[in-house]
Amino acid sequence: MLTDYHVHLRPDQEGSTAESYFTSANVDRYREAADERGIAELGVAEHIHRFVQSLDVWRHPWYRYWAQDDIDAYCDFVRSHGLKLGIEADFLPDREDRIANVLDGRPWDYVVGSVHFMGEDAVDVHGEPDWEAWDIWRGADPERVWSRYFETLGEAARTGMFDILAHPDLVKLFGNRVPAPDGDLRRFYERAMDGIADSDVAVEVSTAGLRKPVREMYPAAPFLKMCLEAGRPVALSSDAHTPEQLGYEYERAVEWLSDLGVKELAVFEDRGRRLEPIG
Ligand SMILES: [Zn+2]
Ligand SMILES: [Zn+2]
Repeated sequence: MLTDYHVHLRPDQEGSTAESYFTSANVDRYREAADERGIAELGVAEHIHRFVQSLDVWRHPWYRYWAQDDIDAYCDFVRSHGLKLGIEADFLPDREDRIANVLDGRPWDYVVGSVHFMGEDAVDVHGEPDWEAWDIWRGADPERVWSRYFETLGEAARTGMFDILAHPDLVKLFGNRVPAPDGDLRRFYERAMDGIADSDVAVEVSTAGLRKPVREMYPAAPFLKMCLEAGRPVALSSDAHTPEQLGYEYERAVEWLSDLGVKELAVFEDRGRRLEPIG
């Protein structure tokens, strides 16, 4: 069985309103793409910062800019269209209770946890004039950024708040467009591994990295091997923001997983997990 759980029904851009994208016609486009690509399990995981309720978690400029939609209307829409219901929630240290207040009591099939922010800065924002003021890469020491990123990732796993740990080595996404550390990167991965090993989280394998400047799968093979040795299951997703991106490069991903000895994928329902053979 193939899955695509970390999927957005719309691009991250101006004018991508709920009214224009949370429609039956749009869901049909995603479902057709899933059928074509043999993806039996299709779910969506909208960014938490798109919902007004996220302002109770954080009043960061990014959140204030994007928070426009109602989270319960989203849940109703997704459920009524027969998709698995997820959300992509930022891990924000010291805000766990506030995040839990938004997540608890809502009918998720799974919660995708992401480390996008370290402090006020986002690791996946670079060279966008509007957000330049909090570009983490300005004058950054890559050793420090990477160390902190993976420490935060381990903390995110350890909270137990998330079912899936998204794009685990997101910090690499800009490739050599930003300063990058040298040598064996496992010294960074190890900083996350205690938290991941102590958790029950599924580790996302995401083909989205292949679309980014780094042109690599998330996570790198050595990182995934460490997670597998720690007994963590794999969740496969594309982080699509359009129907065209659904299941992006899945043939390559399936082959890559097979080479790494992964034979099963995590499947989610009502925040429960089971394993199914990769189909
Ligand atoms: Zn993300
Ligand atoms: Zn995403």
